[in-house]
Amino acid sequence: MKILVAVKRVIDYNVQIRIKTDGSGVETENVKMSMNPPDENAVEEALRIKEAGKAEEIIIVSIGEEKSKETIRAALAMGADRGIFVNTSANIEPIAVAKILRKIVEKESPSIVLMGKQAIDDDCNQTGQMLSTLLSWSQGTFISKINIENNTASITREIDEGLEMLELKLPSIITCDLRLNEPRYASLPNIMKAKKKPIEALSAKDLDVDTTPRIKNLKVEEPPKREKGIMVKDIAELVQKLKHEAKVI
Ligand code: AMP
Repeated sequence: MKILVAVKRVIDYNVQIRIKTDGSGVETENVKMSMNPPDENAVEEALRIKEAGKAEEIIIVSIGEEKSKETIRAALAMGADRGIFVNTSANIEPIAVAKILRKIVEKESPSIVLMGKQAIDDDCNQTGQMLSTLLSWSQGTFISKINIENNTASITREIDEGLEMLELKLPSIITCDLRLNEPRYASLPNIMKAKKKPIEALSAKDLDVDTTPRIKNLKVEEPPKREKGIMVKDIAELVQKLKHEAKVI
């Protein structure tokens, strides 16, 4: 069984985001970039499935600018086997990513595609769902537990009402929650080994996918500054303010 894992290069979650002065987007020049956090959980889970003897190969795919190869290398250093890099512009939309992933799936025939539940830069939470639709495969989203047995994935999903348990017939698209596992750190020997692992380079054109943006970005701006809070002396004053000033009760 092969597992395909999709990893996105995003601004590191510790970085304080800065908006470009012309409002056209966020500043990415000289900013630390890393693997999208839930994608690290996806890589970790693929490694655990392989270590349990339930998969033979883990392929990492990343779509974007040349530097996305670094994100693939990071996943190879964690222990994945090989990479596929698809060269496109940095701001590629979920539908185009899903179409590219469909072509890679058709080429590689994995039994599972593991992805993050959401990319922390665009917060779209769309790519896995779109890919599942394009392929007509089952999907399990926001998963915090997975067990593979007899061509079936038993998963636990984190939903508003609590936990939902489902059985998915493979092949399947599975998107991972941060609570799924604790991603491992790459050891120095594995970082060295990863340099020799193969990364196939393709372009969206090679895969015959049109990546022309469909969404027009009008403006990106900072959220309004929050006003300073006030201290109230007792519950009566709190209720009075909620009723007459905030008008929320
Ligand atoms: P999104 O729908 O943009 O929130 O992304 C959900 C998931 O899709 C991410 O966690 C990644 O696993 C995958 N993904 C999105 N964009 C890319 C990309 N450019 N390259 C590889 N994987 C991606």
